[in-house]
Amino acid sequence: MSRVLIIGAGGVGTVVAHKVARNADVFTDIMIASRTKEKCDRIVKAIGNPAIRTAKVDADNVDELVALFNDFKPEMVINVALPYQDLTIMEACLKAGVNYLDTANYEPKDVAHFEYSWQWAYHERFKEAGLTAILGCGFDPGVSGIYTAYAAKHHFDEIHYLDIVDCNAGDHHKAFATNFNPEINIREITQNGRYYENGQWVTTKPLEIHKDLTYPNIGPRDSYLLYHEELESLVKHFPTIKRARFWMTFGQEYLTHLRVIQDIGMARIDEVDYNGMKIVPLQFLKAVLPNPQDLGENYEGETSIGCRIRGLKDGKERTYYVYNNCSHQAAYKETGMQGVSYTTGVPAMIGAMMFFKGEWKRPGVNNVEQFNPDPFMEQLNKQGLPWHEVFDGDLEL
Ligand code: NDP
Repeated sequence: MSRVLIIGAGGVGTVVAHKVARNADVFTDIMIASRTKEKCDRIVKAIGNPAIRTAKVDADNVDELVALFNDFKPEMVINVALPYQDLTIMEACLKAGVNYLDTANYEPKDVAHFEYSWQWAYHERFKEAGLTAILGCGFDPGVSGIYTAYAAKHHFDEIHYLDIVDCNAGDHHKAFATNFNPEINIREITQNGRYYENGQWVTTKPLEIHKDLTYPNIGPRDSYLLYHEELESLVKHFPTIKRARFWMTFGQEYLTHLRVIQDIGMARIDEVDYNGMKIVPLQFLKAVLPNPQDLGENYEGETSIGCRIRGLKDGKERTYYVYNNCSHQAAYKETGMQGVSYTTGVPAMIGAMMFFKGEWKRPGVNNVEQFNPDPFMEQLNKQGLPWHEVFDGDLEL
């Protein structure tokens, strides 16, 4: 019996639920819980398996979570709610003796700041309780770390330069929309950029550095240097890395909208008074923007995410590029969600599968690259995210 509880019924939660249900040999008992129970019920209806249970839970409330865990008794929680809930869910896992997996690191609501310290601080408590926590098991973070671990294990003696490259060449035919939760997405992109070089973090202005990178089957796309959370754990776990950066593509139209949103104050995350009510402009904006879950039907094109790595093998310099391309339409046909939710939800399911199969059991708080990448890489090929390798090509970076 492997009992799994999925928390969050958004785009990513929908994909996780579909994939978990399809791997019934591993996941025998499933529950989906979220703030709005109707959304969980809708997912169960779409999957067509009435044995999947649903529940309402406020994941900001530890006591509510503990009561739910004690009732359903899951062995693992897959947290695909928002990053704000990571710590309350981890706290409840410790209280109820449940293992933990998520796809995004904790963020406090009142400041857009990403770092692992809050979650790493739980390491000893998880270890003492004999519980495994797996952090950042989406695509990036997630597969980006597993690709790096796989490269380190099989293709390099020392990794020196790591560039994670994330391209969405899809077209959803909307003037402006984000591909996952707009609040989380806009907070991420409007921050300063940051990368690691020679033991130090270098800060840039938001979207200051950019260059054309060529993506397989897509062609050149303007790619912007952003800070991304996995850089912090990867330079810690692969100390030979001299430079680590993260790049993401944006179209001009998207950036123009983003600039206007910022200029008119709609990206603010502090409370403002509106007719005697307190509202957070960015949260209000989320309410009027297209729902990322509704983009799938008309979404064309594909994503391409990978790692471009330079380092040493047997005393010689070599380059390695490992990537996946994911079609938005294929993702939609399979799960009703677009490619960005798909590329996040499939790895989250595989991470939980690794835990239940006993491949990734290690009491304490772990980032994905600390585990054996091989069985995970094998499942990526089987579960809809096949990967490709280019050896000794031009990395452009
Ligand atoms: P959505 O906004 O679509 O879904 C979030 C879900 O969480 C919703 O169902 C929401 O409920 C629920 N939720 C929010 N707050 C609470 C709460 N207090 N209690 C219970 N449920 C709550 O987001 P996405 O599906 O797009 O993203 C999910 C996660 O995946 C995010 O953390 C995001 O950062 C991460 N992500 C990671 C990526 C990666 O590659 N690693 C890439 C993309 C996303 P309601 O519907 O009622 O609002």
